[in-house]
Amino acid sequence: MSRAYNFAAGPAALPEPVLRQAQAELLEWNGARASIAEISHRSPEFMQVAAEAEADLRTLLSVPDDYAVLFLPGGATTQQALIALNFAACGQTADYVVSGHWGKVAVKQAQAYVAANVAASGEANGFRDIPAAAQWRLSPDAAYVHLTANETIHGVEFRPEWGEIPDTGTVPVFADFSSSIASEPLDVSRYGLVYAGAQKNLGPVGVTVVIVRRDLLERAGQPRAEIFNYAAHAKAGSMLNTPPSYNWYLAGLVFKWMLAEGGVEEFARRSAEKARLLYAAIDGSDGFYRNEVAASVRSRMNVPFFLHDEALTSAFLAQADEAGLLALKGHRVLGGIRASIYNAMPVDGVRALVDFMQDFRTRQG
Ligand SMILES: *Cc1c(COP(=O)(O)O)cnc(C)c1O
Repeated sequence: MSRAYNFAAGPAALPEPVLRQAQAELLEWNGARASIAEISHRSPEFMQVAAEAEADLRTLLSVPDDYAVLFLPGGATTQQALIALNFAACGQTADYVVSGHWGKVAVKQAQAYVAANVAASGEANGFRDIPAAAQWRLSPDAAYVHLTANETIHGVEFRPEWGEIPDTGTVPVFADFSSSIASEPLDVSRYGLVYAGAQKNLGPVGVTVVIVRRDLLERAGQPRAEIFNYAAHAKAGSMLNTPPSYNWYLAGLVFKWMLAEGGVEEFARRSAEKARLLYAAIDGSDGFYRNEVAASVRSRMNVPFFLHDEALTSAFLAQADEAGLLALKGHRVLGGIRASIYNAMPVDGVRALVDFMQDFRTRQG
C-alpha cells in the first residue's frame, strides 16, 4: 500500500478508517445479503442508514429542529440555480457578495431567473480580500443575500478577524459552505439556507447537503417542475430521485468518524493548527513562497501560494509528488500551488508538506 498525503481540492481525501470500513462492508451490508449499493433506497436497511446520516449531521452541526436537511444529487452548482428558482419571484432582486470564483459562478447560475445584484465584489483586488461590510450595497427588497463561506480556488474565507456578516434583517442569508462545512462550529440559525457539495469536507462527490429553514420552504412559491422544488424534496425525504444511496452511506460514515474524533470543535482545533503551520512556512520563507490573501480572510481549508520564480513550480510539483504529497497543482484560474487541507488531512500531512517546502527551498539555494 502506498497511500500518500492527498491535497486535492475535490474530490478530496477521505478518512482512511472510513475507506476501510466501506471496503469491509462493500460486498454485504450488515446482514442484508447484498451491498448497500445494491438494495432499494426504500428498504428498511437503507432507510436506517439515511436516517442515521441525517441525525449524525444534525448532531455534528447542531442543526435546529426548524431546519430541514436534504441529501440531493446534483452538485453545489445545481443549488446555485435552484435557490434562485425556489426563493425569488421571477426577475426579483437577489444580492450576491462575490469573494472569489464560486461566488461568480453563483451569480451566473442565478442570473437566468433573478436580477442578481453584486452587492460587493473582491474581483478588482484579484479576490485577495473581502470588501468590508460597510461597503456592501444590499437591496432592501432582495429575496436573499448569497455568499461563499470559503472560496476554494482563491483561498479566501470569512473569518472572525474580518468582522461580522452584517445584519440583513428579514432578508435571509444563503451560504455556499461546500469547502468549509463541518470544519468548525456553525451557527445555522444565522442562515436561511446552507448548502455544500460533499466532495470537500463531507464525503465522496455525488451528494449535496442542503440545510434550509422550514418556513422558507413553505413560503417558496414559483411554479416550477416538482423535481426543482426544495419543498417537494423535503416532503419526499430526499427521495424524489433515486437518491445517491452509496454516497449518502459514505457521507454517513464520515459523520460518524467526525463525531468519534471529537466533533467540529476538534476539527476547528486541527484546522487552525494546520493553517498556522502552513502560513508560517510561507510567510517565513523570505519571499521564496508567497500567499497574497489578506491575513484577516486567509482560508483555513485551501491555501494557494506561489514560488518566487514561477519556473520552479513544475519541479516543486514533481518532487512533491515523488515525496508522497499529491495534487498540489494550483487551479488553472490562479496557477501556482494549492494545498487543500480539509478535515480528512491529518496535521502530520501538513507537517510533511512544510518539511518538504523547507527542504525544496534549501536545495534551490
Ligand atoms: C467545489 C465547489 C463548488 C462546485 O461544486 P459542484 O459540486 O462541482 O457543483 C461550488 N462552490 C464551492 C465553494 C466549491 O468549493
